[in-house]
Amino acid sequence: VIEKGQPEHSIVTTCAYCGVGCSFKAEMKGAEVVRMVPNKDGHANHGHSCVKGRFAFGYATHKDRITTPMIRKSIHDPWQVVSWEEAINYAASEFKRIQAKYGRYSVGALTSSRCTNEETYLVQKLVRAAFGNNNVDTCARVCHSPTGYGLKQTLGESAGTQAFDSIMKTDVIVVIGANTTDGHPVFGSRMKRRIREGAKLIVVDPRDIDLVKSPHVKADYHLKLRPGTNVALLNALAHVVVTEGLTNDTFALERCERESYEKWKTFVSAERNSPEATESITGVPAEMVRAAARLYATGGNAAIYYGLGVTEHSQGSTAVIAIANLAMATGNIGREGVGVNPLRGQNNVQGSCDMGSFPHELPGYRHISDFETRSQFEAAWGVTLESEPGLRIPNMFAAALDGSFKGLYCEGEDIAQSDPDTQHVHAALRAMECVVVQDLFLNETAKFAHVFLPGASFLEKNGTFTNAERRISPVRKVMPPLAGYEDWEVTQMLSNALGYPMNYSHPSEIMDEIARLVPTFAGVSYEKLDRLGSIQWPCNEKAPEGTPTMHVDQFVRGKGRFLLTEYVPTQERTSSRYPLILTTGRILSQYNVGAQTRRTMNSVWHSEDRLEIHPHDAEQRGIKDGDWVGIKSRSGETVLRATLTERVQPGVVYTTFHFPESGANVITTDNSDWATNCPEYKVTAVQVTKVAGP
Ligand code: SF4
Repeated sequence: VIEKGQPEHSIVTTCAYCGVGCSFKAEMKGAEVVRMVPNKDGHANHGHSCVKGRFAFGYATHKDRITTPMIRKSIHDPWQVVSWEEAINYAASEFKRIQAKYGRYSVGALTSSRCTNEETYLVQKLVRAAFGNNNVDTCARVCHSPTGYGLKQTLGESAGTQAFDSIMKTDVIVVIGANTTDGHPVFGSRMKRRIREGAKLIVVDPRDIDLVKSPHVKADYHLKLRPGTNVALLNALAHVVVTEGLTNDTFALERCERESYEKWKTFVSAERNSPEATESITGVPAEMVRAAARLYATGGNAAIYYGLGVTEHSQGSTAVIAIANLAMATGNIGREGVGVNPLRGQNNVQGSCDMGSFPHELPGYRHISDFETRSQFEAAWGVTLESEPGLRIPNMFAAALDGSFKGLYCEGEDIAQSDPDTQHVHAALRAMECVVVQDLFLNETAKFAHVFLPGASFLEKNGTFTNAERRISPVRKVMPPLAGYEDWEVTQMLSNALGYPMNYSHPSEIMDEIARLVPTFAGVSYEKLDRLGSIQWPCNEKAPEGTPTMHVDQFVRGKGRFLLTEYVPTQERTSSRYPLILTTGRILSQYNVGAQTRRTMNSVWHSEDRLEIHPHDAEQRGIKDGDWVGIKSRSGETVLRATLTERVQPGVVYTTFHFPESGANVITTDNSDWATNCPEYKVTAVQVTKVAGP
């Protein structure tokens, strides 16, 4: 049942799925949501929504929700239902026991995009103040951490440069590694609208995404590259821009570091970076690369939108830097209609980064080693902070396996399904002595947990999410938490039990503290959010109502900085045994590991993950559409049904990862980005064979 009668009142809140962050009215009958209606006053969505957001309320009251805390001494024991007090005290005593036995650095925590800004802030505060270390990380590690690194290094701020509305002034749209119509449907529709109005479109993607050719939109150029060759292609585009004299030297010389610009021009001009020299690497015809580069540099306002197809590679950070270089060299940054725009996959992945749930950065992207910053937080929190960065997610797994990391507090992240090389992750979780999972459902990670703390869905709590355009939007409680507490309250109880007192009475007080400590949030308050509807950070004295476009007069770091982006092939090579490249992505009706969408109407439209394979490759293996196929990599193997399609190129296969039984991450490898350890989900060498079925 989708609609449950006539609503009596409505409450405006924010979708908890993708990085568009659509505003919705939850229409209520008593304490029950009868439907979700997209808010026409929503700044990110202007009254639009997709099939995920509309039916999101379905999972909030799903029968699988766990609403009582549970503990067990061993993961082989049955769960025992206990009171909140007992569960919190047990978790705290276990963390204390572990730290007493194995040392201060033997425990840590993970936050996720499921958390509001306020919840994320509290988790990293608990880790730093109560655990006394910096072992805190977030799901951005496995998606957009290269964005944080690459944009900070070049532009000075780890965030996209534009508002979504900026696209309506764009003449040339470049989409790299982002299937926007499936991953960010509402923004994908706006993109299509702008293309229908006459904007040109360049798509860089190994697969025929809908934007390449749909009933109303066709890409002017589709650079259908081989997975893993983004940097070679971006260098080739830059080569054309520089060697054909298409740079905007006035902008670059005035706004950027001159020496870095000159060095970069010399670097990309080298013959090895030409479209002709890189054609055998990327598989993209040189003439098409030249034409696309000319269009980007000379076609008017040009904006680059990119996604996980850029970041989830061994050179993810390099590719982000290459994108920023291109924008600076052509002057396509610092005004409406242009810019560098990471399309954040999840609703609050931007916020989880902003709030300091990184092992090396305090809230506001300030490095933990910076004395002045640390002193500010120490004074506010009344503790002495550890100055060395803590463990990233993959380091936590490695430390668990070598016996030095024993306790994990995991809020809203299903690492046992979402992280690559599943067997390795499971072994690490098994090696821990106390895993505390705070979630809505007994997810895959909970199978390895000793304490389960029931979470609250986005409909059961107050707080804020920050979307891909830096827009902070209110999340409002439309019904009481099914388990009695909002997630920030649970973290607060745990911190108190650990001995570090927290005493907030409402998330607005947490935001007030954030505003005091984070300069880009200095002007943010719940009162202002209620008044304005949403705010794009930076919001402070200089920009009291927020900042739609960044880097207008100068870059956040002062002068923009060009960095060299040498192409280095991935270690993941095809061979006679593993001749195909597997790449992964998402589908419109499902969301990430599917924990939520699989429990809504959305499963009607997409009920399994399938393997897309080119008919040529299928024929060679005797595979027909719908056959079961075994997929084997150097890490593991799984079985899926095949879909024959020319959307993928010969030599490349593709799947989604929404269903735990499909085991997509059983086969992905532990290769990762050189700078941030973001996993290389997008390139795995595999063999595919026809099998009888699971
Ligand atoms: Fe909007 Fe994304 Fe939610 Fe769809 S999933 S309604 S596009 S925020």
